[in-house]
Amino acid sequence: MSFTQKSGGMGTAGPGFVGIKFCQECNNMLYPREDKDNKILLYACRNCDYHEPTNNNCIYVNKITHEVDELTQIVSDVIHDPTLPRTEDHVCPKCGHKESVFFQAQSRRAEDEMRLYYVCTNGNCTHRWTE
Ligand SMILES: [Zn+2]
Ligand SMILES: [Zn+2]
Repeated sequence: MSFTQKSGGMGTAGPGFVGIKFCQECNNMLYPREDKDNKILLYACRNCDYHEPTNNNCIYVNKITHEVDELTQIVSDVIHDPTLPRTEDHVCPKCGHKESVFFQAQSRRAEDEMRLYYVCTNGNCTHRWTE
């Protein structure tokens, strides 16, 4: 396991509220923008070159949003797919059902990261989660 957070120092800066920020140069609204080279989120002004890094909380909120998107895109039909491996080592966190199917997929949160996704085989539940 490896985490790419730079340090643990900023994680306690309060709840993950993403407020509206304004440019210190020209007072226009700043918009979140991805810095693809450094894989961080910036607030950037559309009117001038001003930008500033977001704090860790904002990045965290952003990741959670993407993860929820990914999980809702998994169709519950995968529990009937005979080609998928099944495991009894991962109990459903929602209903406690013992068996789940799992598969590996590329996470959209981090383009080079492969993740395991689990789907509860209880037909009334089909809860999806990832580790
Ligand atoms: Zn500006
Ligand atoms: Zn379940």
